[in-house]
Amino acid sequence: MERYRKLSRYFKERYGVRIQRIPIFAGFTCPNRDGTKGKGGCIFCDATGSGFAAFRNLSIKEQVFKWKEIYKRKFKNVKFFAYFQAFSNTYAPVEILREKYSQALADDEIIGLDISTRPDVLPEEVLDLLEEFRKKVEVHLELGLQTANYKTLKILNRGHTLAEFIDATIRAKKRNFAVVTHVIVNLPWDDIEDVVETAKIISALGIDGVKIHSLYIVKNTPLAKMYEKGKVKMGTLEDYIDRVITFLEYLSPSIVIHRLAADPPHEGTIFGNWGLSKTQVVNLIEKELEKRNTWQGKKYNYL
Ligand code: SF4
Repeated sequence: MERYRKLSRYFKERYGVRIQRIPIFAGFTCPNRDGTKGKGGCIFCDATGSGFAAFRNLSIKEQVFKWKEIYKRKFKNVKFFAYFQAFSNTYAPVEILREKYSQALADDEIIGLDISTRPDVLPEEVLDLLEEFRKKVEVHLELGLQTANYKTLKILNRGHTLAEFIDATIRAKKRNFAVVTHVIVNLPWDDIEDVVETAKIISALGIDGVKIHSLYIVKNTPLAKMYEKGKVKMGTLEDYIDRVITFLEYLSPSIVIHRLAADPPHEGTIFGNWGLSKTQVVNLIEKELEKRNTWQGKKYNYL
């Protein structure tokens, strides 16, 4: 029995093959860094803009080519989504966005577009543009939320509140976009009630997918300074597992789970996944789901 709705199965059922996401660095920045919405960025965000920035000096076409080579050596039958991950990938004039997304889609084996952004930089003209692309490929819109607790959002220096997230989601869902939300369930300022409320809000909004992250701390970030001064205490691995399971229990069973833990960068991480790999953390969560005989949506009876 699968105890949560895995992304890999969703892709397999839809396309019949493995889908691999290619992380694209498109040279965007973020309004929470350049002073438009805020300065300094979210307290956990490092200079890479919370993205996996390999090949960042290459053109988008070259990045696609390089990653395809790597993945084709690893997997036999595979197709690709272009994943615009780092920084805010809708934060530019529409014509520039069109040009960048088109470069990635010039390759026939790219069958989907995954656009990661902030909820406060999703104007209607960007949604119009994404509707154009959706006529050709599947489009996923990834919106960072992290937590429904607006006080914690303030501490994180997100530069937006829950209201902007709800607004962006409603507007995207009105146009039938697949919305994927990022959450961090072990934020030291949140308790288990915040985790439950976040799951409920995401379910109530009819969101399609969730990426669950474990908070990690990278050098040269405001969070690293807080941690080094003893102002932030990270919870235990057991607490993380408990929070993920509780989150899943309250989440609608139809929501696709894109990830269960973060993948901290290889360099510069001060605290990440309690010294374990992402796969090890995921294995422990799956074991605990079995042990507790519980599953995604078990407590989804509140709407
Ligand atoms: S919104 Fe994203 S890119 Fe911008 S500061 Fe926060 S984590 Fe970094």
